[in-house]
Amino acid sequence: MNDKESDPAIHVNNLSKSYGSFLALKGIDLIVNRGEVFGFLGPNGAGKTTAIRCMLDLIRPDAGTVSVLGKDPQSDPVAVREYCGYLPGELRLDENISVNSVLEFLRELRGGGENCHIRAKELADRLDLNVKSKIKNLSKGNKQKVGIIAAFMHCPDLLLLDEPTSGLDPLIQQTVLEMVKESRRSGATVFFSSHVLAEVQAVADRVAIIREGQIVEVGETSSLLSGRAWKMKVMFAENTVMRTEEIEALSGILLDEVSSDGRELKLIVDGEMDELIKVLAGYHVESIETGRPDLEEVFLSYYGKVRERDHLGKKGNE
Ligand code: ATP
Repeated sequence: MNDKESDPAIHVNNLSKSYGSFLALKGIDLIVNRGEVFGFLGPNGAGKTTAIRCMLDLIRPDAGTVSVLGKDPQSDPVAVREYCGYLPGELRLDENISVNSVLEFLRELRGGGENCHIRAKELADRLDLNVKSKIKNLSKGNKQKVGIIAAFMHCPDLLLLDEPTSGLDPLIQQTVLEMVKESRRSGATVFFSSHVLAEVQAVADRVAIIREGQIVEVGETSSLLSGRAWKMKVMFAENTVMRTEEIEALSGILLDEVSSDGRELKLIVDGEMDELIKVLAGYHVESIETGRPDLEEVFLSYYGKVRERDHLGKKGNE
């Protein structure tokens, strides 16, 4: 293709989209680099599907620009779609024909050759899908597999997957995540939306979190996790009475939970670990467990913070 390899796979600048008076995207910016797996994370209704549809010119934004593989999807939609594999969030297929016929039709439409045909068969085997079945006889998960095969079978440069694992059983979810990793290994870029945090954590190099049409965080999955506070669980020996006010007096240490017998404390350590250890050393400690929060906790902390802010804002306005 004749786009510049230096262009990002996706470049979204100040993208806004409203449905009537409802503003679904509020000026979002995103850069997805070539060859990375990028997770687009957000709760229901956050604007993930809207953003993906704008990337393929399936809907038109009100403002902002989108560039996909160095091309403008509005002026060059065919070129963009030629190099993309797209799995829509809500798949609509002709119900009265077989899986095989759907895949053959799509292959011909794309001008895909024998390799594409062979790959579709391989993927159907891997995903345990009977290609002779009529679409109308397939379960929701099996229909989703047809969409996944259609997105991957021509080995596109860019995969845009809208909640790819939705409706799939856990084993097949793993297979799809393997396929995502394999695509990256062969040089493709994968952009996928999800509200399943574990899968984003498992495969995405970078992640953006969207909430109510706004990007609230973008970063490398690993640094999003490592930049955070530590979690700590401290267990005291029997009959030890910990004076929790000593811990509460330390800056950057949050007392998250105290067990009913007072023997177990859960802490968030966002400050000096050294001060905390010195306080704990005055007691008979049985065990200490520490760990970084996972993406789920990071994600929830954003919503917690935003909810808290909204709540305070509302109270302030009362
Ligand atoms: P989900 O995870 O539930 O699929 P999403 O993050 O993909 O959600 P969108 O489907 O992009 O979210 O929807 C964003 C907002 O825009 C939602 O509030 C939704 O109700 C609204 N919306 C989406 N499509 C339309 C439409 N055609 N007409 C009116 N409102 C719409």
